[in-house]
Amino acid sequence: MAITVKNPIVEMDGDEMTRIIWQMVKDELLSPYVQMETIYYDLSVTSRDRTDDQITVEAANAIAEHGVGVKCATITPNQDRVKEYKLKQAWPSPNGTIRGILDGTVFRKPIMLKNIPPTVRSWKKPIVIGRHAYGDVYKNQELQIPGPGKAELIFTPAEGGELVRRCVHEFSGPGIIQGIHSTEKSIRSFARACIQYAISQKLPLWFAAKDTISKTYHAYFRDIFQAEVMAHQDALEEAGVEYFYTLIDDAVARVIRHEGGFLWACMNYDGDVMSDMLASGFGSLALMTSVLVNPEGKMEFEAAHGTVQRHYYARLRGEPTSTNSTATIFAWTGALARRGELDETPDVVDFAHKLETAVIQTIESGEMTKDLTRVCSPSVDQYLTTEEFILAVRKRLDAAMEA
Ligand code: NAP
Ligand code: MG
Repeated sequence: MAITVKNPIVEMDGDEMTRIIWQMVKDELLSPYVQMETIYYDLSVTSRDRTDDQITVEAANAIAEHGVGVKCATITPNQDRVKEYKLKQAWPSPNGTIRGILDGTVFRKPIMLKNIPPTVRSWKKPIVIGRHAYGDVYKNQELQIPGPGKAELIFTPAEGGELVRRCVHEFSGPGIIQGIHSTEKSIRSFARACIQYAISQKLPLWFAAKDTISKTYHAYFRDIFQAEVMAHQDALEEAGVEYFYTLIDDAVARVIRHEGGFLWACMNYDGDVMSDMLASGFGSLALMTSVLVNPEGKMEFEAAHGTVQRHYYARLRGEPTSTNSTATIFAWTGALARRGELDETPDVVDFAHKLETAVIQTIESGEMTKDLTRVCSPSVDQYLTTEEFILAVRKRLDAAMEA
């Protein structure tokens, strides 16, 4: 008897190899076992182009309404992609659009497997990164300075009052400058999302910045974080979650010799750089899951990797591929488990766990895609194709469902 998912999940389809995997996962690992209604949005680049990107906005609004979404990787077009797909323009990153509408924070967590040892020997448990995905250098203004002159920061209050000016630098020759910003509202909701996540997962919470050098900008982050932690002290204590603040360079040094098992809240740039470091340190980008959490607890699940373009082109040429679907499957299980939790349907949560276990057992028994054979120990000399891997998972899932 099929398991019924009570309320709908917002499904966002995507591009290239991950779009192919998306369909296979649904056909082989979901549809045979669960009966669910999804609210489907095609976020492929051509569909975004056709709708002038309105479909992305609609999908984000649907997540806000229904509370749970799952997204396939999508192309963020650059000029090459505009030519390749004959697009009207280089549409913005769908993830950026969705994040903006939901006001969410992205948490990335590696999937750990017995035979995929982290490159860093001390890591025994996952290290989760929460990246403040707003502002800083990602929303900057920059200038090349052609020659001698004075660069200033100027703030003009909207409600009148005195102009504030600061000299950035008196140039005696050519150079560069950059202006960046963040907002109180965004930093606060970032801090709250991290606190919510830490409480829900019962993980210690770390935050780090460089407030010894940036005594106003970085110190502002530190102070808001501290204030939010104080405001949530009771809930944090009840969950047994400790908060730890340190300097970013000290945090990096500690992370390398720590056993893991904590949430590392990062400023935007730190989160960008450190999440890639962690992804490769834990084994593979294809084992990294990603969830967007907003301050009201709406969640969107996805794989951290992109559309795996190179494999897609190989497939179009008729060559066999060996693309790892693990993170895509875990995006679905994350969404199903969350849906089941909200709907209070334990059988749905249980199915999600069974599917995750089937994936883990498949890889741990030595059946895996090519990306993992490079990092697995003990080594295996054979790898599965994209399709074979999904069918190997299905075999284990079938057995688990019959038991
Ligand atoms: P990518 O799709 O993550 O792939 C980069 C490389 O990593 C692949 O060529 C492959 O290496 C390896 N890889 C990634 N995922 C894998 C998997 N599941 N199984 C096996 N190997 C995997 O990044 P990209 O090629 O830089 O970007 C392609 C497109 O994805 C771009 O248009 C970008 O805009 C988009 N993107 C989307 C998202 C998102 O929607 N969340 C995130 C990042 C990028 P080998 O070629 O060596 O096998
Ligand atoms: Mg990065």
